[in-house]
Amino acid sequence: MKKLSVKVKLTLLYTFFMTLISVVALGILFSISNTQILASVQRQLEESVEKGFRYVEWDDGELEIDSDIMEVENNIYLSVYDKNGQLIYGRIPYDFNLDVEIQNQQLRNFTSNGTKWYVFDSTSEVFGYEEVTIRGIVSVTNEENNFAVLIKTSVVGLPLLVLLTAIIGYRFTSRALKPVDNMIKAVQDICENEDLSKRVSIDFGQDEIHRLGLLFNQMLTQLEEVFEREKRFTSDVSHELRTPTTVILSHCEALLEEDTLQEEERKEIEVIEKKARNMAQLVSQILMLSRADRECLPVNLEEIDISELTEMVAEEQEEIASLKNISIQTEIEKNIIACVDETLMIRLWVNLISNAISYGREGGYVKVRLFTDGKQITGQVEDNGIGISNEHLAHIWERFYRVDQARTAGQESSSGLGLPMVKWIVKAHGGTIFVSSEEGKGTIFTFHLPGSNES
Ligand code: ADP
Repeated sequence: MKKLSVKVKLTLLYTFFMTLISVVALGILFSISNTQILASVQRQLEESVEKGFRYVEWDDGELEIDSDIMEVENNIYLSVYDKNGQLIYGRIPYDFNLDVEIQNQQLRNFTSNGTKWYVFDSTSEVFGYEEVTIRGIVSVTNEENNFAVLIKTSVVGLPLLVLLTAIIGYRFTSRALKPVDNMIKAVQDICENEDLSKRVSIDFGQDEIHRLGLLFNQMLTQLEEVFEREKRFTSDVSHELRTPTTVILSHCEALLEEDTLQEEERKEIEVIEKKARNMAQLVSQILMLSRADRECLPVNLEEIDISELTEMVAEEQEEIASLKNISIQTEIEKNIIACVDETLMIRLWVNLISNAISYGREGGYVKVRLFTDGKQITGQVEDNGIGISNEHLAHIWERFYRVDQARTAGQESSSGLGLPMVKWIVKAHGGTIFVSSEEGKGTIFTFHLPGSNES
C-alpha cells in the first residue's frame, strides 16, 4: 500500500466506499423479499377496490358510474357488478378470461394464460340503490417481473457504476495531481542534470497544489541565485589569487637564480616555490571548474586524431611512471577521429593516467586503451594499484573528495579536483564515464564519447 501513488490510493479509497454503498444497496434490495412485494400489491389492490365506491352513486333513479374507474392505476383493473353478479361497467384485463364467482372481501389468486392474478371483491350497498360489488384485478406476474428487472438492473448496474466512478475518479485525480507529477519530473531533472534553471510548469489556478508549485518555483529561483552568487564568488576569488601566486613564483625563480644564496636559504625558497606551484595549480583547477559551472568555459570542438593525442599523453606520462617502476601499456586503435576540444582531452587523459600512476603499485602497470565501434569511442585507464573501496567509490566524483588523507599524503598536488574535472570534460563532450574498482586489486575508469559520425 505504501508503494502506491496518491492517485491510485485515492481511487482505491472511493472505489471501496462506492462498492460498500452498492453492496448495502443490493443487500437492502434482496432483503425486500417477494412476499413483501406481494403483500404491498395486495394492500394496494384492496385500497383501490374500496376507493372504487367513490365512482359509483345513485342519482335521480339512475346508477351513475364515473368513467375514471376505467383508468388503470398501479396495474389495477376495476370493474362493477350488480347483486346478480352481472358486469355493469369497468375494465377487465385482456388476457384475464376466467369466470370467477363474486366472494365479498376475499382475496384470491388465479392463473390464466401463464399469468398470475390477484382478484379482490368488495360488496357494498350504494345509497338509494341496491348492493353492488367492485372487483379489482391485478397481475402478480407483472409485479414479480418488475422486481426481477429491478434486481437484475441493480446487479449489473451498480458494479458498472462503481467501475465508471473509479475510471472517472482516477482521471480526475490524475488531472488534479498533474502539477505534482510535474514537480516530481522537475526535481528529477534538477537532480539528474544538476540544473537549477528548470521550473515546474503550472496552469492557472488557485488551489493548494498550484500554490505549492508557485512556491516551489520561487524557492528554485532563490536557490539558483544563491548558487550563482557562490559560483561567481569562487570564480572571482580564484581569479584574484592567480596574480599573487604568479608573483610569488616569479620572485622565487628570481631568487633561486641568485649565486649569493646560502644552501639553507635555497632549500627554504625551493619549498616555498613548490608550495606556490601547487597552489597555482589548485587555483587554476578551481577557476576552470567554476567557469565550467557558469558555462563560461569555452569548449572548442574540432576534428582531431584522438589516437595520436592519446599516444602522446601516454608517452609523456612514462617518465613519471618510471619513478615508480610502473609500465604504461597502450592498446590504442589507430586513426580514430573525434570532434573534441584538444586541450580538454589532454587534461582528461593526464588526470586519469596520473591518478593511475599515483595510486598504482610499485612495479605495476597502467593500461591505456582506446577503441571505437563507429558509434562511440571508448577510452579506458586500468591499473593494478590500491583500488577504491565501495564506500568511497560513489564519492570520488565530488569536489575536494579524497579517499583518505594518508594515501594521498605523498601526492603533493592531490586536490580532489582531478576526477570532477574529468567528469565535466566527458559531459561537455556528450559522453559518460564510470569506474569499477576493487580495493587492493586495481581500478578501471571507462568513458564513452560519441563517435565522429554521431557528433
Ligand atoms: P586527487 O587530486 O586527490 O587525485 P581526484 O579527484 O583525481 O583527486 O581523485 C579523487 C580520489 O579518488 C583520490 O583522492 C583517490 O583516493 C581516488 N582515486 C582516483 N583515481 C584512483 C585510482 N586510479 N586508484 C585508486 N584511487 C583513485
